[in-house]
Order: sequence, then structure tokens, then C-alpha cells
Amino acid sequence: MAQRVAVSDGANKKATRVRVAVRLRPFIGQPGEDDDGPCVRGLDSQNLEIVNWRNATETVKYHFDAFYGEKTTQQEVFLSSVKPILPHVLNGQNASVFAYGPTGAGKTHTMLGSSEQPGVIPRAVRAVLDLVSAKDGDEGWDYSIDMSYLEIYNERVLDLLSPNSQDLPIREDKDKNIFIPGLTHISISSFSDFDNHFVPASLNRTTASTKLNQRSSRSHAVLLIKVVRTQRALRQRQQTGKLYLIDLAGSEDNRRTGNQGIRLKESGAINLSLFTLSKVVDSLNSGTATRVPYRDSKLTRLLQDSLGGSAHSVMITNIAPEYRYYFDTFSALNFAAKSKLVVNKPFTRETVAAPVLPVCLRSEAIQRRPRGS
Ligand code: ADP
Ligand code: MG
Repeated sequence: MAQRVAVSDGANKKATRVRVAVRLRPFIGQPGEDDDGPCVRGLDSQNLEIVNWRNATETVKYHFDAFYGEKTTQQEVFLSSVKPILPHVLNGQNASVFAYGPTGAGKTHTMLGSSEQPGVIPRAVRAVLDLVSAKDGDEGWDYSIDMSYLEIYNERVLDLLSPNSQDLPIREDKDKNIFIPGLTHISISSFSDFDNHFVPASLNRTTASTKLNQRSSRSHAVLLIKVVRTQRALRQRQQTGKLYLIDLAGSEDNRRTGNQGIRLKESGAINLSLFTLSKVVDSLNSGTATRVPYRDSKLTRLLQDSLGGSAHSVMITNIAPEYRYYFDTFSALNFAAKSKLVVNKPFTRETVAAPVLPVCLRSEAIQRRPRGS
């Protein structure tokens, strides 16, 4: 049994920024909806603009680390935002990739995808397995990979690999590593090992229908891939790198989803974690915060050692082009962006609603668009 030695990797310990990418999914019009066209569009690989509902003669422009337009493939998203951070996980560093955005905007497509268009999760798991098998035998280290899969639902931590489990606690060890006592870890050495556990566990996710989306996801799904490497020398050293791959709950404003009772309670809890996440990302990216409020929610507490610090993090904000998503898109962009610029030019003359309407009526018109599944 290897003696556990805390190893400093010599990396710069100052808080690192969270890289922020925005992905706009293709227009999926509903009958009668397509006349409006999109309300948001990309300008180049880092900038996009959205209609300014307050003033139709203006657009609002945003700048991000990356902008992925509707034609961007799953492979392109993976190669530019996720693949570069994976080698760090084999060196005992932590990383997190999370998909943010309103329900229906493409979070699950981005993270999970489909068999024809696999997303970040299957691609990252394959890539980590490939990196480890390329290393094996090299450099005097032995590698092992394991997976855990949990959801945070109503501020409770539930083990998706052990469906009858109770709410699990989140703890911190003396080296400031965050861990969950009792969480299932399954050793994986091939992609089919992973898939055999991941697919049935995904079905345990709590989903409930809301007016927004029949399969609206009300919980944060957190996949943890842990790479442990042990040095084969006399005095064995061990390093652990953690990769979190997270499909966040929908960021939509529950005042417009018709949520009541239990659903409203869920939305409140979801908003606590998302609200805290926004504060954490904001304080990391502004670089001015003296205290990053990780402890204020389960999600950020869990990510405390894997978001900021010397960890490598990417947030992919998913947005939808249709007008019925307008306010959710606007608030998702404002969460993601540090800066925005109001530009004095109409979005396009054809698609901007007649500017004679008073602002309140126009905002009502946008808000009242039917939002089906
Ligand atoms: P969310 O998980 O954010 O609620 P989904 O990933 O379920 O959203 O996406 C909603 C719908 O849009 C799904 O039918 C999905 O397949 C489709 N979709 C999302 N993003 C894309 C994309 N980039 N290309 C093609 N279809 C997409
Ligand atoms: Mg989803």
C-alpha cells in the first residue's frame, strides 16, 4: 500500500480564471415561430450580439474567451475547450467543465450528446483513457482511473451509482482536498467499463416536467473522473487529479415557468447553487475577491478544490436563438460576461419589432411567447 504523500506540483497557486465559452445552438422553430428569426447571433469567434429590447435601435455586444456558433461541431467544442485541460489531470491537478444555461438551450447536448454526436463526457473519458494508456510503463508511474457520478438535487447530494443512498456529506481533508465519504467509486479501464455504469446511472437522474420542457432537468449532474498515479520508486508518491464534468440544472427564471409548491422549492434550491456559482466565478474572474463564497452552496463546496486555485476550469454557456428564450438568454449572457457593450445600431431592420410599441408592451410580447417543450 502506497504511503500517501502530499506532493506540490510547483504550479502557480494563485487563483486562475474560469475560461468562459458561449455556444449558440441552431434555431429549432416551432410552428408559427420562425417568422421572427433569431434574436442573437455570432459576430466572430469571440463576440456575439443580441437585440436590445429596451431600445430597438441598439444591439448589445458581448465578448467571451470563445464563441461557438450554431454550426460548431461537438468535436470542435471538445478540441478547443476541453482537450487542452485533460493532461493536467494526469499530473495530479484538478479540472472542471460545466454546461450552464436555460433548459432547452443545449447543455445536455454539449455534455452528453447522442450516439451520432457524442458530447464532452464520452470524448473526455475516451481521451483520459487514451492519455493514460499512452503513459503506461513510462516515467515510473502507475495510473488508475475511477468514476463517481452524483446529482445535487434540492441541495442534497445523491449517489447515482448507488440509487438508494441518502444525502451524502461533503468534507475537506487536512490537505484541503474535498471528498464525499461513502460515495461510490468504480474503477474503469476501458470505455465500456465506463458506459456500463454511466448509462443506467443516468436513468436515475431526477427529472420532472415543467412548462418549459417536458424533460427539464431540475438537478446538477456531476460526473467525477479521478486519475491516481503512483510512483514505482522505493518511497512511493501518489498524486490524484480530479476531472468534474457537470450538466447544470436549467438557469431559467422560475417566475416564468409556472412553478409552484415543490417545484418552486426546487427552483429556489437550484437558484441557490447557481447563484453561488455565479458569485464564485465572478470573484475568481475579477481577481479582487478576498473570500470566494464556496461554502454557500453544495455545488460550489464540492467544486472548491477544482474551480479556481490551480485548477483548470471551463464554463460553456449554452444559449438558444429563439425569441421565446430572450430573457433567459440575456440573463445567461450577463452571468457569463464580465463586460458588455451597447452598440447603437439595430439588430436587423426586418426582425426588430416595430419600435412604436412602448417598451413595457414589447417586453410583455417577448415574455408571453408560448414556451412549450
Ligand atoms: P438542455 O440540456 O440545456 O435542456 P438539450 O441539450 O436537451 O438542452 O437541447 C435541447 C434540444 O436542442 C435537444 O433536442 C437537442 O438535441 C437540441 N440541440 C441542442 N444543442 C444542439 C446543437 N448544437 N446542435 C443540434 N441540436 C442541438
Ligand atoms: Mg438537459
